[in-house]
Amino acid sequence: MNSNIKIALGDLRHSTLGRHSIYIPIGIGYIAAYALSHNSLNREVVRLFDDPNVLIEDIKNWKPSILSLSNYCWNAELTHRIFRYAKQINPAIICIAGGPEIPTEPEKCQEYLLNRREIDFYVVREGEVAFSNLIKKIQEGFSLNDLKSIPQEGILSIHPLTGELVAGHPLPRIQNLDVIPSPYLTGLLDKWFDGRSAPSMQMARGCPFTCAFCSGGNQWYSQVVRFSQNRLKQELTYIAERIKNYPNILLAIWDANFGMYPEDEEISVYIGELQNKFGWPNAFNVTTGKMNHERILNIASILKNKMQISCSVQSLNEETLKIIKRKNLSMDKYREIQAEIKKRGMAAVGELIMPLPAETKASFFESIKILFDHDVDYIVPYTTMLLKGTPLASTECQNRYQMKTKFRLLPRQFGEYEHEKCFEVEEVCIATSTMTFADYLEGRGFAFISALMSNKQFDVIFKHLKELNINKFDFLFNIFEAIKSGNSALSTIYDQFIEETKDELWDSKEELFTHFNKPENYNLLLAGKLGDNVIRKYKAKMFKDKWTDLIELAYAIIKKCCQNPDEKIIPSLDAARAWMFAIRKVWDVFQNKEYQESIRTLHLDYDVNKWYASGENSEPLTSFDNPTDYKIYCDYRALRNMLSQAKGLYGDDLMYQFGKIIINWDIELFWSKCEYLNNNF
Ligand code: SF4
Repeated sequence: MNSNIKIALGDLRHSTLGRHSIYIPIGIGYIAAYALSHNSLNREVVRLFDDPNVLIEDIKNWKPSILSLSNYCWNAELTHRIFRYAKQINPAIICIAGGPEIPTEPEKCQEYLLNRREIDFYVVREGEVAFSNLIKKIQEGFSLNDLKSIPQEGILSIHPLTGELVAGHPLPRIQNLDVIPSPYLTGLLDKWFDGRSAPSMQMARGCPFTCAFCSGGNQWYSQVVRFSQNRLKQELTYIAERIKNYPNILLAIWDANFGMYPEDEEISVYIGELQNKFGWPNAFNVTTGKMNHERILNIASILKNKMQISCSVQSLNEETLKIIKRKNLSMDKYREIQAEIKKRGMAAVGELIMPLPAETKASFFESIKILFDHDVDYIVPYTTMLLKGTPLASTECQNRYQMKTKFRLLPRQFGEYEHEKCFEVEEVCIATSTMTFADYLEGRGFAFISALMSNKQFDVIFKHLKELNINKFDFLFNIFEAIKSGNSALSTIYDQFIEETKDELWDSKEELFTHFNKPENYNLLLAGKLGDNVIRKYKAKMFKDKWTDLIELAYAIIKKCCQNPDEKIIPSLDAARAWMFAIRKVWDVFQNKEYQESIRTLHLDYDVNKWYASGENSEPLTSFDNPTDYKIYCDYRALRNMLSQAKGLYGDDLMYQFGKIIINWDIELFWSKCEYLNNNF
């Protein structure tokens, strides 16, 4: 019996330039809680980590005998680096990996593990039982070579003598999730209640859908199983009591389809009660379900409309949808849901992935047009990622659709650990048999402009479009054409966006590693000049440097698209433009102390503020022709408080903080206040 076991469990994240993830590592929490309850292990011999530098110190000083790390596309290189380091320090340490970042085709899987010989065991699919069984066998004294040579259920290894892949049978899924003790209620995750981390949890596991680009679409995960309501309520209360002093920290629910099931409704009622009692949670990170939208809408209301409803379509091209095995809602139903979302004061968001098989440039642009015509406010465009083990990433699929792939650095995901640099890389598709690379770039360009304007910051513009009967897609296409032509004040930043979109792509991982390992290139990453999410980076740049030009261009296009404007329309639009300049300079509000503390006045011939506050179905702006004086100011105390939270969450880099805030936070928090100087109500 081996009684000297010490287990380090890690879900590691880079934090070289701000933390990649702020979420409490619930996955290793479940693994640890299950292993502790099913083996004779003391609590003290299991430690959990998310910071690689802290783990490195513990590898040196605490000297774990087992190192187990999660392996996702965003940390696979870091995981590999730490395994290598651990084996250098202690060749006898047992290294166990787990997670979806492993190919499923046997030859590719073998090659993957042969290239990572430091990994002794790879736990596939659900990790709790397989990991715990392995620990038991190690405790019982089985030799490492025996364990690696004989198939272990739910585990892969490389045979120490033959180099063959040794694959144990898959274990059945856990049916009663409550057999996994709660990592929250057992105190395993307490150290993360520090005001810098967001609680995350699972209510259910499994997904009945089969999307070909997602590892959750595998048949093995199709059955949906749940934690008991009682257990979830206890966990939520435990969390709320500890996080209530950080009301802006969100709650993440990692279910594949939250809100689709009656149990989600019941648990939401409970979360609503916590909101009343503790003032938390006020924001959520959830992926809502693809069916039962009435229930999801009801849940949004229960949660005080603070939960974003995802209505992703990924593509609207029928042929593409067939290939990726995805069925979207009918567009009539889609429109109905978007209208309901908006009624609740939330934004309707449509997600698209490009390029997917059979998609063309024309069909991609058409998809954006259809989404806008069906009342979507914001488009979120993604480049097609090829995730290991998914049908879309299979050799067969790549050959059939002539998918051309490249490699790019995951935004800001790099670091230097024990004198070795390490970079996370994703494989993306940038052309197919139906979409050339040039088409892809143009699609990205339009997606960038759509994403740029896809922000509450521009709701005034979209109110004008509706009122003046201007098609949203036509408006955005006009903006796109004006910027792309090179004659706009915004063209330089747009061109930089396109250049960086090209330059971030590499033919192989090795080529990327070689480039960024050179000190001069690594320094560019450290300085934040390269290696960021390009849409976020250039969106922030536009908001910072070109806000005035962007608004000028938007109003110029509105005026151009106006059919027969009467004599009031142009002056009313000018008033609205001046109001936008006065209220929504978010970069100044974000970082300019003098601006934050200043009190300004504004005179307009139209009461734009009242028109805006009257909401979706107000009278037209031209009816608000009432000369008005406003006082404009910021609540700078509340602002400073938010800014210090942003710094805690995202680090010191102002542009990074700003980029995160304008995308992830309610941007209204950064608008100046507007009060009447004369009494117009
Ligand atoms: S994308 Fe979502 S719905 Fe589709 S298989 Fe994955 S988890 Fe399920």
